[in-house]
Amino acid sequence: MKLESAGLLISLRPFNERDAVAHIFTREHGVIAGMLRGAITTKTNKPLVGQIGNATWGARLDSALGVFHWESERNLTAPIMMNFERIKFVNCVFDLIKTLLPERESYGALYDSTVNFLTNLPNTNSPVDDYLRWEIVLLRELGFALDLTKCSGCGRVEKLTHLSPKTGRAVCAECAAPYVNRLFQLPLTTDTTLKFIEKICTELGTKIPNSRLSLTCEKNS
Ligand SMILES: [Zn+2]
Repeated sequence: MKLESAGLLISLRPFNERDAVAHIFTREHGVIAGMLRGAITTKTNKPLVGQIGNATWGARLDSALGVFHWESERNLTAPIMMNFERIKFVNCVFDLIKTLLPERESYGALYDSTVNFLTNLPNTNSPVDDYLRWEIVLLRELGFALDLTKCSGCGRVEKLTHLSPKTGRAVCAECAAPYVNRLFQLPLTTDTTLKFIEKICTELGTKIPNSRLSLTCEKNS
């Protein structure tokens, strides 16, 4: 079995003194795990998390941990490597992709959205808003499509004050009144989307990545 696609190197873990296990989020085939031979020892074209490039992956069996050939084009995170406030968004995005996405299932819209987010991150004035927009795409791709455009009860488009935890749809102040205690408040924050992430993690039997938890804690403090 052989796969090839443009991709983002989202995780790299040393396997032995020479090699590393990599996770690459590819545009065509979603997240793929595989060995990157010589990733630790190589002096030239060193694979680094945050690189965008072209991945070729091959395995003798579909179930086996395959081997990558990785050609990096550039490192999207290089401009913010020293910016702790912004690099934490990168860690969070990569951890969520690795934790929540099933391997080798295509998520083209999320891939494009991730590349956009990373490309704009050095220059944006609103990293939190951009991050929220990215996370809304993530949630949509994973089956939690948030609808913030109109009230799910009466259809009005103004005075939307709440969000239903069950449906992810907005509710206006009047329709929300009888159930206020059971609804999330708008505007949407990373605290609200975290609740949906938590649901997905529970379904998958996995933990919310620490990088995502700290994102919310820091915002509140
Ligand atoms: Zn309403």
